[in-house]
Amino acid sequence: MSDKTIGQCNFPVNAITELADKEVTPVYIYDQKRIENRCEVFMNMPNAFGILPRFAMKANSSRALLQLITSKGLGIDASSLNEVRRAHLAGIPYSKILLTTQEAPTGSDLEDLVVMIKNGLKYNVCSLTQLKNIAPRINECTNKFGIRIHPGVGSGESATRNTGDKYSCFGIHLTDLPKALSFAKDNGVIFNLVHVHIGSGGDPAVWKENIDRELGFIYDYFPDAETVNFGGGFKEARMPGDTAADVEALGNYAKEKIIEFQAKTDRKLKMEVEPGTYIVANSGYLVTKVADIKQTGADGFTFLVLNGGMEVNSRPLLYGSQHPFYIVTPEGEVVFDQFKQYDESSLKELIVVGRCCESGDSYTLDDNHTIITRDMKMPSIGDYFIVGGAGAYCSSMTPFNYNSHQQIAEYLLTNDGKLKLIRSRQKMEQIVVNELSL
Ligand SMILES: *Cc1c(COP(=O)(O)O)cnc(C)c1O
Repeated sequence: MSDKTIGQCNFPVNAITELADKEVTPVYIYDQKRIENRCEVFMNMPNAFGILPRFAMKANSSRALLQLITSKGLGIDASSLNEVRRAHLAGIPYSKILLTTQEAPTGSDLEDLVVMIKNGLKYNVCSLTQLKNIAPRINECTNKFGIRIHPGVGSGESATRNTGDKYSCFGIHLTDLPKALSFAKDNGVIFNLVHVHIGSGGDPAVWKENIDRELGFIYDYFPDAETVNFGGGFKEARMPGDTAADVEALGNYAKEKIIEFQAKTDRKLKMEVEPGTYIVANSGYLVTKVADIKQTGADGFTFLVLNGGMEVNSRPLLYGSQHPFYIVTPEGEVVFDQFKQYDESSLKELIVVGRCCESGDSYTLDDNHTIITRDMKMPSIGDYFIVGGAGAYCSSMTPFNYNSHQQIAEYLLTNDGKLKLIRSRQKMEQIVVNELSL
């Protein structure tokens, strides 16, 4: 057994080569130790009067990971009614879950929602329609809800991840707040939690401004608020040169501001945060194989064709995201490690693509969706090609049946160094099970 490691998190190479006789690639491997470490960072986040970090489960909804993360003390931030159902199926009680959704449940979904709230689910009202749907039902569950405010400004690494500016519609916009407040008052609804989430991967300075702004909202409009929820968007450093959010510094800032708020109002606000990316991003490794190597002529490029691309990780295609790469031979020799320095002359300019019939199915794209090259060592066909930083918004967000590929398997690398299967590979029959013949 090799004791080699790759990357900034020292992921053991033998966990990759061990897969060879277990399952066909591609597969995801998640590092339990890393996830637990990230959970602890948030459980220990500085705070004034208590903190509850809630894992944003849309980042990774795998049952075993939800169980692991909640066992460390975190709650759940769910983005849909089905996410609540899924977390509950994983054994997580409703009382640990906050629902913040764009959906406006009606019919049987509304009936389910009322029962879930009655059993402890915290419902974060995100629109006037949602408020009007739930208000007539308060006698059956509770009259205390959260409210998500659209602050009019946002943050995020790209337009599609900014959730706070006028080009997105998450939450009740400040201009609609008077309507929401008067409706709530007339109908006996109380907002005891106030929530703002401004976007993913955001800038710490903007995050700090959000703390100030949100406490201002509570001061001005929410006399019954007991909890302030600052949302997620804590940046993780995936690539060399990236800097992760300083959770401790942000916690200290929030703590100071919540204490100032108490001095002014005599109210002790509890704090909640909703990290998704930060908890799981760097715990995840997508293990693929180099299936083919092709050229496109004298003035063209050299392409590595992997056996898993956009259908297992669509972040590069959606966002132009850069992930660290590693190349390992079937025997466990590390050919390339994104976090090691190499003599430039030994590196080649390569393009990395997947196996889908889609020219954008590439891991080397820039922000404008243009194919670019990345410098790395030349692999051989059959080598493992590992994509790091693949724990968040990869498995949970992929169009996995595109080109009729199967959803891939997932393993947890446990604290005792064993690979535990946490999701089987989808069977071919499962792709077509709901289809009917002509
Ligand atoms: C997506 C989301 C999060 C998590 O964002 P990250 O960037 O993954 O930390 C938190 N809260 C809400 C409401 C979200 O929609």
